[in-house]
Amino acid sequence: MINRQRLTDEFISLVKIDSLTRQERKMADALLKKLKDMGLEPYEDDTASKIGGDAGNVICHVKGKKQKPALLLMAHMDTVVPGLSKNPVIDGDIIKTDGKTVLGGDDAAGIAVILETIRSLIEDKTPFGDIYLAFTVAEESGLFGARNLDLSEIPADYAIILDEGGEIGTVAVKAPYYNRFHVTFTGKAAHAGLEPEKGLSAIMMASKAIADMPNFGRIDEESTSNIGIIKGGQVRNIVCETCEIEGEVRSISEEKINRYTDEILSHFKKTAEQLGGTVKIDLEKMYPGFDIKESDDIISLLKEASSASDIPMKLHATGGGSDTNIINGAGIPAINTSVGMTNVHSTKEYIRISDMEKACHFLTAIIKAAYLR
Ligand SMILES: [Zn+2]
Repeated sequence: MINRQRLTDEFISLVKIDSLTRQERKMADALLKKLKDMGLEPYEDDTASKIGGDAGNVICHVKGKKQKPALLLMAHMDTVVPGLSKNPVIDGDIIKTDGKTVLGGDDAAGIAVILETIRSLIEDKTPFGDIYLAFTVAEESGLFGARNLDLSEIPADYAIILDEGGEIGTVAVKAPYYNRFHVTFTGKAAHAGLEPEKGLSAIMMASKAIADMPNFGRIDEESTSNIGIIKGGQVRNIVCETCEIEGEVRSISEEKINRYTDEILSHFKKTAEQLGGTVKIDLEKMYPGFDIKESDDIISLLKEASSASDIPMKLHATGGGSDTNIINGAGIPAINTSVGMTNVHSTKEYIRISDMEKACHFLTAIIKAAYLR
């Protein structure tokens, strides 16, 4: 049975561990120990050295009564700033912060829900199929743990990521592709008072390029772009030589993100050339999007779980990225389901214990439905 007190205690113990991005060592050690204490054989992969962090992903194969279909359950270990010395406060059904840090329910709630669900299945001797657990590092800075996960070791048929907010039963089935770019405009420095005609202002170049930029902001129903940072110049009396901008493009559609990104970047190039300057463009295609259809098999699995647990499902599209993007991109159908986290990435973050409990029931129902297939 899902044990509310054990779940609450687990959640509190997890959020008290400092686990900023690329500093997940203590969290990884705690999870390795907790899983071993459950009689399982977890291991840590070699992601730490690849991404310059102090811990790798923690992975565990929970052997079931049959191999197929196998489920991959995921949550991330890292939390955002301000996230050191977190001091959770229990107020009735709500767990909140003391106002000085984030709570870290993103994504300690996902981890606590997975641990409680597995504990209760083992305890109750409930039959289930093969389950793989993956607790990832460095999700918040760009899904780096998931990107380095060796999925050849994880033969899963469906992946359930527990890293969403909203009512329990809320499931993200669509998320955008994400590109980011860093563009440096270079002109020519000159004394601004004595001979400005000998210079070429990179600030002017970047400004013109941005002012006439195609596809800015809300591009269409499923696509957006932004310029988030502009930096340039050192002193007032020198014609500015370099100016840097950083921006992003998102779209649910792969064809559109490619086209919009190309149009933006070639516009920057053309503008710089027309004005007699140069431009250096660094484009990073950070992660793929996903678009799960209602007719897809993973959705029918969730529907079975939803009716068995009496938890209504709400499918929605999200504008952000998560480990779900990487797993879908690697070919395993994956969805992101809510654990009830609220006001994440802020010092007003909180979570309801009853929501985490409900998330355990929903996850249990998914595992049981998979076993019946
Ligand atoms: Zn998260």
